[in-house]
Amino acid sequence: MKFWNSKLAWLMLAAALAVLMLQVSGLDAGSPSAARQPNPAAADLPGFTAMAPIDAHAHVYADDPSFAAMLKRLNLRILDICVIDDRDAFSKALEPQRGDVLKVRRITGGRAAFCTTFSPYGFEEAGFKEQTIRQLNHDFSNGAVAVKIYKVMGMEMKNKAGKWVMADDPAFEPIYQDIAAHNRTVVAHLAEPDSCWQPPNPSSPDYGYYKEHPEEYAYAHPDWPSKASILAVRDHLLAENPRLRVVGAHLGSMETDVDQMARRFDRYPNFAVDTAARVPYLMLQPRAKVRAFLIKYQDRVLYGTDLGLMPGENTTAALRHWREEYLRDWRFFATDEEVTYHGKQYEGLKLPQPVLRKIFHDNAVHWFPGIVPGK
Ligand SMILES: [Zn+2]
Repeated sequence: MKFWNSKLAWLMLAAALAVLMLQVSGLDAGSPSAARQPNPAAADLPGFTAMAPIDAHAHVYADDPSFAAMLKRLNLRILDICVIDDRDAFSKALEPQRGDVLKVRRITGGRAAFCTTFSPYGFEEAGFKEQTIRQLNHDFSNGAVAVKIYKVMGMEMKNKAGKWVMADDPAFEPIYQDIAAHNRTVVAHLAEPDSCWQPPNPSSPDYGYYKEHPEEYAYAHPDWPSKASILAVRDHLLAENPRLRVVGAHLGSMETDVDQMARRFDRYPNFAVDTAARVPYLMLQPRAKVRAFLIKYQDRVLYGTDLGLMPGENTTAALRHWREEYLRDWRFFATDEEVTYHGKQYEGLKLPQPVLRKIFHDNAVHWFPGIVPGK
């Protein structure tokens, strides 16, 4: 009996220590059952935190103190991105997003950096250029480190003559020049995954998205520009503006084939990509090929997620999802453990530490000057 009691006491001490370690590692808001049965991968999140990670693609519009606390706990920074899309009720205009992002920046002590945008819809109106440049310069003086351009160019907008308006339209050129002159960066979400132009395929990572957003599903609109033509326009923009840094969101919409990215990196020194919402596409390609690509182009890939937090959203549930995503991605990039995606197992890439440091921190600092204040 005495032996049993001391064993029990030892077990309780071990359990208390395990809970303490989880709290220290930033997983404290996990479920009690997670604390009782520690996830073997939990030990990896301190590795993520040690990188001083930067999530270079997020959309946080709720200034919730628990979000700020999570950033601090994970030693994490984000690029908080505004986006204008007149098909979406929340994203119709720059406000309230810009005000929301500035509030998030304040409450996080600057861990959320401000990425502004501009409305492209008025490009045929008199004074568009002057007004847009004035707005952007105001945002730059207010600390904006980047400017998002969006897929509505090439996939939604038409001019008065009924022609598609593409990202390299001459109306936008003075704006790109102004961004470059201010040493700011463009985040370019142009085109979409290949599956946007293909028949519905339940095994595609984006199947659910196009089911929910038929208005964005190019396959259902055969009159829309082809993906190849939109990417050719993006490449033209890169060639025309060699002094403009451009980070292609979502693996630059070349998600199915790392060779496509490699060709652009070789051709355009002003181009990098983020991984936002496309990490599974790296799992789906041959592991050795993806690993070699990330090592060769270790200066050109920025870690990003596309995670979000909307005003009024259930923060506890959202933050649990954020942590799960970081854990999965970190395991995939940093370890050779099995990572599960859609019920299938993929072996992690176990990238060398210096490469991880670039993807998770250094590249964001380089491509978005000012994202870490004072750096
Ligand atoms: Zn996004």
